[in-house]
Amino acid sequence: MIAVLKHGTTPQQTEHLVNWLKNMNIDVHISEGKEITVLGLIGDTSRVDIELLNSLEIVSSVKRVSEPFKQANRKFHPNDTVVEVGNVRIGGGHFAMIAGPCSVESMDQIIEVATAVKESGADILRGGAFKPRTSPYAFQGLKDEGIRLLLEAKKATGLPIITEIMNIRSLDLFNDVDIIQVGARNMQNFDLLQELGKTNKPILLKRGLANTIQELLMSAEYIMSEGNENIILCERGIRTYETCTRNTLDLSAVPVLHDLTHLPVVVDPSHATGRSALVPSMAAAAAAAGADGIMVEVHNNPSCAFCDGAQSLTPAQFDEVNRRVRRIREVIV
Ligand code: PEP
Ligand code: MN
Repeated sequence: MIAVLKHGTTPQQTEHLVNWLKNMNIDVHISEGKEITVLGLIGDTSRVDIELLNSLEIVSSVKRVSEPFKQANRKFHPNDTVVEVGNVRIGGGHFAMIAGPCSVESMDQIIEVATAVKESGADILRGGAFKPRTSPYAFQGLKDEGIRLLLEAKKATGLPIITEIMNIRSLDLFNDVDIIQVGARNMQNFDLLQELGKTNKPILLKRGLANTIQELLMSAEYIMSEGNENIILCERGIRTYETCTRNTLDLSAVPVLHDLTHLPVVVDPSHATGRSALVPSMAAAAAAAGADGIMVEVHNNPSCAFCDGAQSLTPAQFDEVNRRVRRIREVIV
């Protein structure tokens, strides 16, 4: 980090600032010019409050020259992280197709969808048991019963399962869940992230509706700083002024994230577009952009789905999407 001091700063003021920084275990390299003094801050500057430093009367500007995320940073960990669930690997050249309904609705529904997506070649089964809904009157998920049904589907198909956690109090219910999802709305629920960091479960962390890529990485850092490095990042569309789609899929997040971090990156074209007709092309585009996996919603009867039917593929549509994505993977790797 570099701090430029204003013209006219006295040596005493500079010394005072340098001592303040040294108290935070930051080494300071002072470069005195004719007009201005530049301080080079060396050490773990992630603890420095950049806004506070910038607001000091003697400081003209502050610039970060290194990223505030460390453990998620590719600079300190050049090799790709590969997350393993059962026989499935994600990252480092390994690709996973995650498919299943928005929410688990009944035993028949989850078994039917799980069997169909498995037959088409899905690697992991998704299904929401705890649903974060905008309206408190909308279907909130089957909760513990939903997890029980997902586990039945896992037993029936052999597919590892992923499902969303909303509150750390329900963590015990996730003992046999293979990947815990943190949804877009909880991306900055820092208490939840820290508690998940104390587990050794793979975590799929979705990007928030209005969060930057750096904020996503800082949230991953919250989990990693507690010891859990098994993280998969997920781009699921961000909110923009566009209304033709539910969100705007930021596909450039895939190569940007691959550059900044060693963590695997998957794309969710279902929540990104909100329309099943757009999912095949966006899934194909995500694969072409180098995503390490794709997560899509599939329902045996989308028009009757309790949640997100408009963006859910039928099993037959999923079969085609999966084929297309695998063909693209062959071409690009
Ligand atoms: C989901 O995947 O079920 C979900 C609610 O997604 P998001 O958090 O991206 O809205
Ligand atoms: Mn959904």
